Amino acid sequence: MMLRTCQVLCSQAGPSTGAWQALSFDGGAFHLKGTGELMRALLVLRLCAWPPLVTHGLALQAWSQRLLGSRLSGALLRASIYGQFVAGETSEEVRGCVQQLQTLGLRPLLAVPTEEEPDSAVKTGEAWYEGNLNAMLRCVDLSRGLPENPGPTGNILMQLKVTALTSTRLCKELTSWIRRPGASLELCSERLAEAMDSGRDLHVSCLSTEQNQHLQASLSRLHRVVQHARAQRVRLLVDAEYTSLNPALSLLVAALAMRCNSPREGGPWVWNTYQAYLKDTYERLRRDAEAADKAGLAFGVKLVRGAYLDKERKVAQLQGTEDPTQPDYEATSRSYSRCLELMLTHVSQRGPMCHLMVASHNEESVYQATKRMWELGIPPDGPVCFGQLLGMSDHVSLALGQAGYAVYKSIPYGTLEEVIPYLIRRAQENRSVLQGARRERELLSQELRRRLLGWGRRVPH
Ligand SMILES: Cc1cc2nc3c(=O)[nH]c(=O)nc-3n(C[C@H](O)[C@H](O)[C@H](O)COP(=O)(O)OP(=O)(O)OC[C@H]3O[C@@H](n4cnc5c(N)ncnc54)[C@H](O)[C@@H]3O)c2cc1C
Repeated sequence: MMLRTCQVLCSQAGPSTGAWQALSFDGGAFHLKGTGELMRALLVLRLCAWPPLVTHGLALQAWSQRLLGSRLSGALLRASIYGQFVAGETSEEVRGCVQQLQTLGLRPLLAVPTEEEPDSAVKTGEAWYEGNLNAMLRCVDLSRGLPENPGPTGNILMQLKVTALTSTRLCKELTSWIRRPGASLELCSERLAEAMDSGRDLHVSCLSTEQNQHLQASLSRLHRVVQHARAQRVRLLVDAEYTSLNPALSLLVAALAMRCNSPREGGPWVWNTYQAYLKDTYERLRRDAEAADKAGLAFGVKLVRGAYLDKERKVAQLQGTEDPTQPDYEATSRSYSRCLELMLTHVSQRGPMCHLMVASHNEESVYQATKRMWELGIPPDGPVCFGQLLGMSDHVSLALGQAGYAVYKSIPYGTLEEVIPYLIRRAQENRSVLQGARRERELLSQELRRRLLGWGRRVPH
């Protein structure tokens, strides 16, 4: 019934309701921001485009602490990189940041910054994962307690990194098992879902006793986060990571989706992330969308280009295996565009049973999404939303928000010590994006010149 209502709404909102109006990403929306904020953004984006800063970020931070002392070096970071990309340390600071975003028409997508060192003993014990579980539960509460967004209810979203709750070693083990030809039904989503529900021990023959215990503890942590998020009406967007882990992550998501994404629950509560830079993503996305359809489950997708390009290629080269990534940037963009088209068509057919986040800073992808939404009659503030990182591509986010689209900024928060290693890792992964933020820097310079020197006209918006 709900599905039919939305399909009717979607078809009524079709292209006939006025001419298509392209969004303009010309920085006009910067008028919403203070001069201090624009200056900081320009400074930080210029610094981040300087490769040595990104490559040696952690060493530089340690060096500045020794030279300037932790107070002064901390103050410098707060006024620059931390201030630009992080919401703050305390709940109050996060709330303040979110309120400011909301006045600009933007919404929060909180992310707990966790960094697992693959082989670090400190960060692989159960206690570390239990600590992360508590941080996730607090993040659910914080997301729930933030001022409500206008628009349809049920639009509180939060990012979930599964490897904060289970070890990468276990995920790798499960992945290689899943990939084996004729892998047994021992590792199917139904069995994992049952083990989560019952809390009874699950024994998987490919795992050692210790790994089986860790699997059980991980399933219990995942179950607790998801149950809590669902009770608080917070939707969880599971991050995609490396290809050596993703099949295991997808299996866990499938198990969670069986319990949380049934139609009577009101849309998908657990979403998966699809990385267009992988050669097999389009097919996987098509198969998963069809499977959800067949099983009568809601389907939630965060569509990204992918953040781990260099490492994926390095690993393939080292192992002498086929590179799983697209051969060049253009191929990734074509793949993104095809996946986007597939999902938008799916949304237009399935209505609120299918949700999509277009997680990209790319102007062409955002343009394609908004245009196709209009052509397919998908309302701007419906099951399709947009996602960008806090402090990045504000000219795109603000233009979308001002036009009435649902736009989320991915927001890390936490102390300097917790967040800086996370930020540096993300900056290394998104090196090409930071270096490619040239247009954003130009638009910022243009607006600042206009304000400070009275040069140039105000950009129409
Ligand atoms: C809200 C949000 C959530 C995210 N969640 C995840 C996540 O869960 N998992 C994840 O992996 N990433 C995630 N990302 C990061 C994302 O995958 C991209 O790295 C980032 O957004 C840059 O892509 P773009 O479309 O914004 O920008 P663009 O500048 O248009 O694209 C840059 C991207 O193109 C691809 N690319 C660049 N050069 C080449 C090349 N030579 N060959 C092939 N491909 C190339 C890479 O994927 C690169 O990141 C997320 C991003 C956002 C905004």
